[in-house]
Amino acid sequence: MNKNKDSLGDMSAADFRRYGYEMIDRIADYFERLEDFPVLSKNAPNDLKNALPASAPFEGEDFGEILKDVDRLILPAVTHWNHPNFHGLFSTSTSAAGIFGEMLSATFDMKAMLWRTAPASTELEEVVLDWLRQMMNLDAGFKGIIYDTASVSTLHAIAAAREGLNLRVREDGMSGRADLPLLRVYTSEQAHSSVEKAVLLLGLGQKGLRKIETDEQFRMRPDKLREAIEEDKANGFIPFCVVATVGTTSTASVDPIEEIVPVCKENVMWLHVDAAYAGSAAIVPELQNCLKGCERADSVVTNPHKWLFTPFDLSVLYCRHLDLLKRAFSLVPEYLKTNETVTNQMDYGIQLGRRFRALKLWFVIRYFGQNGLIDRIREHCRLAKLLESRIEKSDDWELLAPVNFALVCFRSCHKNVEDLDAFNENLMNEINASGEAYLSHTKLNDKFTLRLSIGSIRVEERHIEKIWGLLNQAAQTKPAGNR
Ligand code: PLP
Repeated sequence: MNKNKDSLGDMSAADFRRYGYEMIDRIADYFERLEDFPVLSKNAPNDLKNALPASAPFEGEDFGEILKDVDRLILPAVTHWNHPNFHGLFSTSTSAAGIFGEMLSATFDMKAMLWRTAPASTELEEVVLDWLRQMMNLDAGFKGIIYDTASVSTLHAIAAAREGLNLRVREDGMSGRADLPLLRVYTSEQAHSSVEKAVLLLGLGQKGLRKIETDEQFRMRPDKLREAIEEDKANGFIPFCVVATVGTTSTASVDPIEEIVPVCKENVMWLHVDAAYAGSAAIVPELQNCLKGCERADSVVTNPHKWLFTPFDLSVLYCRHLDLLKRAFSLVPEYLKTNETVTNQMDYGIQLGRRFRALKLWFVIRYFGQNGLIDRIREHCRLAKLLESRIEKSDDWELLAPVNFALVCFRSCHKNVEDLDAFNENLMNEINASGEAYLSHTKLNDKFTLRLSIGSIRVEERHIEKIWGLLNQAAQTKPAGNR
């Protein structure tokens, strides 16, 4: 019975306990049954929408009934990112400690705008991001700030870089100005689309982004970067920012940061490093080198929500010039003026209120410890190497990129197949439709490429054996027409 029908206020404490315990049981059951679910939802578009009422109920409903609808309607529409055979895009997963962090942060429901409105969020964020900085072996010149996603972190980094040009963009904007030449950002042709989106949002236009050629291992070519900057300068443009990537989305390739740094220094340009995916790998001692050169970068983004078992959304921007970020974004209306000498997080971005995200990262780091996190990431990389060796030993499969971190890019190269692109695409679709696993793709050197990412906290060697079996089975049983 929903007592709210007869009273004001929130759910009673007794009901909260009852449903709260039930909720925890449901979540525990979910994780126990996870591998019984199809990885990709089998719903067709609009199935869920059509099953839901078009308008909200007038009377409150029993919470038990709502939970039943989670089983009946929501679960079938879930794609299970936590499933250990979710290998598409970047395989990411939550963790129990992270879920508890989310529960508590929803409970406190603080809006971290001023220190005064959220001392816990403001100070815990500072401390936990400094822990993570040390774990990644980034130098103490970097100060961190949490945003929701890497897309937003990169947007803020480029905004700070532009503010550093002292071109009065904050005051005068960019339109209608005869005194402002084309401002340019440089990134590789393998960079994530978020760089281009940031440029769009900052009003720099697509013309304001120049994509630099990559080498045979999909890494930005510093010689081509230098050439492009020189050419643009000769044309009167203002090159002001390079976005390099450590762990590109298609192949997890690593741009040569140490060679890009001098190009930025010579041209007085901001260097932002997108380590959204691979930044987590830098906590593993033998992988720490991936961030070499970042001691001279201006900003670095890493996403604990990708590969540090922290529930979405938690992206960290490390920046050496928080003053510029503040200069770009701080705007304090009368009703938010205070006289404490403190950090007010609203000064460092477009959001006023911010969620208490540091709590879940603090829980995750404390619960697993640095060693527990290192062991898990190291194991994912080992599993990727295991799959790599299977592919190398087989005549029927080939690698299409070096295996970096825990991402394998490959394809079937079965003899007598006329159209390998169509063959591999069908193979991927077949596995995805089976619900047994999820793979995604990219295109490398014009070849349809299967991408297999390993990153779930639940993944074990048996899951890699399973997907290898599925791949081989699907390749053998393809209709003759596909061969
Ligand atoms: N950068 C890289 C290299 C990525 O792979 C991704 C997403 O996969 C992003 C940025 C964007 O991440 P987010 O979803 O946090 O904006």
